[in-house]
Amino acid sequence: MIGGGAAGLFGAIACAQSNPDNVQVTVLEAGANPLAKVKVSGGGRCNVTHACFDPDELVTHYPRGYRALRGPFRQFQPQDTIAWFAQQGVTLKTEKDGRIFPVTDTSQTIIDCLLDAVTRHQIKLYTRSSVESVQPVPAVLDDASTATQSGFGVQLKSGQRMQCDRLLIATGGHPSGYRLVQSLGHTLEPPIPSLFTFNIADDDLTALAGVTIGTVRAQLDVPGAKPLQQQGPLLITHWGMSGPVILKLSAWGARLLHDCHYQAKLRVHWLATLTQDEVRQTLLTAKNTWCRKAIATACPVGLPRRFWRYIIRRSNITDHMRWADLSKPLLHQLVQTLTQDKYIISGKGVFKEEFVKCGGVRLKDVNLNTMASRRCPGLFFAGEILDIDGVTGGFNFQNAWTTGWLAGQALGH
Ligand SMILES: Cc1cc2nc3c(=O)[nH]c(=O)nc-3n(C[C@H](O)[C@H](O)[C@H](O)COP(=O)(O)OP(=O)(O)OC[C@H]3O[C@@H](n4cnc5c(N)ncnc54)[C@H](O)[C@@H]3O)c2cc1C
Repeated sequence: MIGGGAAGLFGAIACAQSNPDNVQVTVLEAGANPLAKVKVSGGGRCNVTHACFDPDELVTHYPRGYRALRGPFRQFQPQDTIAWFAQQGVTLKTEKDGRIFPVTDTSQTIIDCLLDAVTRHQIKLYTRSSVESVQPVPAVLDDASTATQSGFGVQLKSGQRMQCDRLLIATGGHPSGYRLVQSLGHTLEPPIPSLFTFNIADDDLTALAGVTIGTVRAQLDVPGAKPLQQQGPLLITHWGMSGPVILKLSAWGARLLHDCHYQAKLRVHWLATLTQDEVRQTLLTAKNTWCRKAIATACPVGLPRRFWRYIIRRSNITDHMRWADLSKPLLHQLVQTLTQDKYIISGKGVFKEEFVKCGGVRLKDVNLNTMASRRCPGLFFAGEILDIDGVTGGFNFQNAWTTGWLAGQALGH
């Protein structure tokens, strides 16, 4: 196995578990420590998977891979992840939003669990062992004209050479892994970022950094493409916008946004649980019942106080204006701001909690029942090196567990 991340180690364990007496598993990891991303994941808590147990629904959380993952999820899905960790003595808990974490709230629990399994199954794990190149080894048969491949020669950066019968590449989004798979005849979908925040140059907005709005519907408009819509909580940041709704849009719009250099328009309905008509009615009721109150201090739609003031100013309503003074055009303007607010996206920021790339090994060149290469016999893939990525919430690790498990089972037989 090349890569000691979630996918590589889970693949190694699945392989050793599937055929304990007949396989010898070795993992080569470039870094000083395996599972480095697991360590920092989920803010140090590791969002292991998501409480979504219907494969047909689960795939809808994967902008790349939603068709391809249906079969793999029928074989190994979040329920299986929970059961696997439970068998190893690790209890997971589900949070209100469906994200699943170890009850200990520390990613070290997941690391310890995987490394214990590595030791128990006598898997050889070599760190500081960066693989530089891989060569298929031809098997010379009696009749030399029918020579086939019988394994791989693996060249390490250190100069050391190793041999294996079968090979799993699970190097995540690392460029050296991409070079390896290309040298073995695979084509890559160009790797570009997914899951990022939107930069918006609006000082009044960014002054509200830290404010979260409960349920927002946001529409991304990229020239020449169908608008993309998502719904969920939105977080205002020092540079613009983040939070689940923005991260989902960034994932689904990753290629479109990349192609337009992250310059696009965003339309926001700040009160997504209400229709435009219901918003208008609510404001009219406030006008009739709160006539003496200042609009800026009496919010009828449950928005955070500072944010409501911002919306008021954006609608050209002064801080001292009372509800009774709200003219028809200003009411219309306020409804528009609350339901059709417009922003210009001027760039992207990094979502530090979970940075993921889209792109990677083209899926049509992979047998998705076994994760075996269709181009190179004996070669398998798992994890983020594949052209699969999910939205935030534990879906990216689930891809690592599922594809690692399938590859491991196939490698073991
Ligand atoms: C900060 C952060 C937080 C995240 N939090 C979450 C979360 O909470 N939940 C979630 O679902 N997802 C999360 N993700 C995404 C998740 O970490 C990845 O999807 C997942 O780690 C992919 O696993 P992988 O094994 O495919 O790749 P990786 O974890 O990237 O592992 C690949 C391994 O291969 C090694 N390697 C690379 N090239 C070579 C080489 N040539 N030779 C030998 N070894 C090599 C690397 O050193 C690395 O250890 C987070 C990502 C980041 C960056």
